[in-house]
Amino acid sequence: MKQFKIACIPGDGIGQEVIPASQVVLEALALGQSQFSFEFTSFDWGGDYYRQHGIMMPADGLDALRSMDAILFGSAGDPNIPDHITLWGLRLKICQGFDQYANVRPTRILPGIDAPLKRCTPAQLNWVIVRENSEGEYAGVGGRAHQGHPIEVATDVSMMTRVGVQRIMRYAFKLAQSRPRKLLTVVTKSNAQRHAMVMWDEIAKEVSAEFPDVHWDKELVDACTARMVNRPATLDTLVATNLHADILSDLAAALAGSLGIAPTGNIDPERRYPSMFEPIHGSAFDIMGKGLANPIGSFWSCVMMLEHIGLDQQAQRLMQAIEAVTANPKLHTRDLGGEAHTQQVTEAVCQMLRH
Ligand code: NAD
Ligand code: MN
Repeated sequence: MKQFKIACIPGDGIGQEVIPASQVVLEALALGQSQFSFEFTSFDWGGDYYRQHGIMMPADGLDALRSMDAILFGSAGDPNIPDHITLWGLRLKICQGFDQYANVRPTRILPGIDAPLKRCTPAQLNWVIVRENSEGEYAGVGGRAHQGHPIEVATDVSMMTRVGVQRIMRYAFKLAQSRPRKLLTVVTKSNAQRHAMVMWDEIAKEVSAEFPDVHWDKELVDACTARMVNRPATLDTLVATNLHADILSDLAAALAGSLGIAPTGNIDPERRYPSMFEPIHGSAFDIMGKGLANPIGSFWSCVMMLEHIGLDQQAQRLMQAIEAVTANPKLHTRDLGGEAHTQQVTEAVCQMLRH
């Protein structure tokens, strides 16, 4: 029997609700299976840990994760700690420490979900956004000087490297090639950002030569937002920079019905380190501790995790259970216009898995 070691980092806010729920679902999935099992290890890193220790995770925290097969992550973000400290001190530390350079975000309108785009059928919206996850606008390069004086200055410098752009383009072309439509849109802003984004375009063209069977086009990021709303069926796989894709994927999540549904994987395609899977939403201060969080985004992230560790059949099984549950409006949480609680949705998915 293959045993998979899974690290659970619930983090803050509703992360502490949706990640334990995900563990329950994964345990239900593994129940009675003879081929595989899961060994979960939970880490209490996040805002409370910060209040006790002055850091979001221990300095040698990555060493505790290194031997894991995958990481399940909730959210970093605490009402009483500045966001740049929680984000950089935990989530980005893991993403960058393990060079998880491809952030992958599938978007589909699941059965039973009332999505805001009235001119498109659910079948016409089926995207995967590939986000560059290691550099660009979020490289962390920059600084502040003359703090508090009238001449104060601050910079966030976007850094793009040839290697960094090449590897994310290759990943995106390969992913597009593996999907039925073999269609890739390279999101850019090379009209206004005339250095790094021009290199981005050049490298896209170079890499495209390695994938002659992939149809690809280029779209400016601002125009891309309109295209996502007006002509969703013309898109399939998208690749964009760290900042651009961050924004586009929240739009994608909203167009699919709710931020509470959308999953993501922070992938190390070379598998040197564990990859990390998480719902794209944050701590949701307005609903935390009330049992109102939609756990579907986390469950779908578990599906991505199962695919990554090679349990494709189990991934399908879980996705079918999720879709059977979203198809029933009685099992919708408040973000979807329903009244169900986190625990009811979790129990319903487990019940589907037992069938
Ligand atoms: P958010 O995703 O936490 O919340 C936005 C809105 O969506 C809220 O109204 C919330 O109630 C709702 N929502 C989100 N997820 C939901 C779910 N599963 N079920 C039901 N409703 C849901 O974004 P925000 O308010 O911008 O950020 C709050 C905190 O979370 C901040 O500290 C931010 O830095 C952090 N954050 C962390 C991550 C991460 O760790 N990956 C991502 C985004 C935001
Ligand atoms: Mn974001």
